[in-house]
Amino acid sequence: MSSITTDVLVVGGGPAGLAAAIAARQRGFAVMLADHARPPIDKACGEGLMPEAVSALERLGVALHARENVRFRGIRFIASHRQATAHFASGAGQGVRRPVLHGALTERAEEAGVELCWGARVSLAGPQVLLDGRRVSARWIIGADGNNSAVRKWSGLERGGCRGQRFGLRQHFQAAPWGEVVEVYWSKAGEAYVTPVAGDQVCVAFLSPRRHCSAAEAMAAFPELRLRLQNASPLGAPRGAITCSRRLPSVARGNVALVGEASGSLDAITGQGMAVAFLQALALGEALAHGDLGRYCASHRKLMRVPAVMERLMLSMGRHPHLRSAMLSLFSARPFVFEQLLRLHTSPWPASLVARPASAAQAAIVAYR
Ligand SMILES: Cc1cc2nc3c(=O)[nH]c(=O)nc-3n(C[C@H](O)[C@H](O)[C@H](O)COP(=O)(O)OP(=O)(O)OC[C@H]3O[C@@H](n4cnc5c(N)ncnc54)[C@H](O)[C@@H]3O)c2cc1C
Repeated sequence: MSSITTDVLVVGGGPAGLAAAIAARQRGFAVMLADHARPPIDKACGEGLMPEAVSALERLGVALHARENVRFRGIRFIASHRQATAHFASGAGQGVRRPVLHGALTERAEEAGVELCWGARVSLAGPQVLLDGRRVSARWIIGADGNNSAVRKWSGLERGGCRGQRFGLRQHFQAAPWGEVVEVYWSKAGEAYVTPVAGDQVCVAFLSPRRHCSAAEAMAAFPELRLRLQNASPLGAPRGAITCSRRLPSVARGNVALVGEASGSLDAITGQGMAVAFLQALALGEALAHGDLGRYCASHRKLMRVPAVMERLMLSMGRHPHLRSAMLSLFSARPFVFEQLLRLHTSPWPASLVARPASAAQAAIVAYR
């Protein structure tokens, strides 16, 4: 049997896998990435990148500015005719369609010299990893194969299941964005959030304990949103996905590390999945450069701490109408409180991972150190 040798094998080419592959290349490793799907890979997603996701992408050298995307400056909560808005303390988020984001990450990975194997079959058999039937000999193996990660099970890192499973449904609408914010609509049936993703398009993600077959069915629980979109045509077919909470006691074992949803999930209501995944990728690149996955486990724990608290708060708001109503009243009467909470929600990260290099020269040093 012929074999392949590489420094780093990344299994899974979603946002987390591509980001981890780029981060490892930036540290000088030979990197191979394999995914059984072919690009551009789409997935049901709210398509909002929080400001920290945008700055992490900059550190990875991924340029979104040349592509179709829309900036947003904060978050608005809407429930039972009440609303409250908070703006980001610094920076802006970006709404970008998932295939567009995937295309930008793929191009950057190619440019950085990652060897990309799309439509590839990865088999994890005993101690061996096979790629399209060829044995892979890799110093490091990164599992970026999403929520149902096979690498997580194969490496013995799977512990417990996911909690609070809910159903997500994404639908695009032809409508000019009507505000520079992501709107989150709350109801007893779940949440719907609206992200501007193009000059004439918004993405609506519905989250609910119940599976919905269509956006029209899901929309019934959100009369204010239904009114807003009454003249907007749906674009393309809806797409569904599961969202849940998962925490692992450890995200690395031997020469295997997990990143993105393979390494644990946050409920989609947090809107932080991709920010966390990109920051994990940067932390993992740093740990590989030190040859120390223990360092990555410590950074991963830090990265998940505040988002996990925010997830509990937001899920409690969803489940308890009295709490939701009290929070909305507080946020609309005291916008400062909402802004402080948003600041905590979007900036809980270690400074070393989010700081932007001051100049192109410094960026090059940081990138290829
Ligand atoms: C409804 C919904 C709305 C969301 N909204 C937002 C949002 O607005 N903002 C945000 O930041 N996050 C959001 N998220 C979360 C975000 O989508 C995830 O954090 C992100 O997709 C995680 O990326 P990933 O690369 O870890 O996993 P994935 O995107 O699932 O990628 C995993 C990849 O692994 C591949 N793969 C799987 N198994 C194998 C195998 N055995 N061999 C080879 N390849 C394999 C798959 O083909 C896939 O390409 C949302 C999630 C949902 C469900």
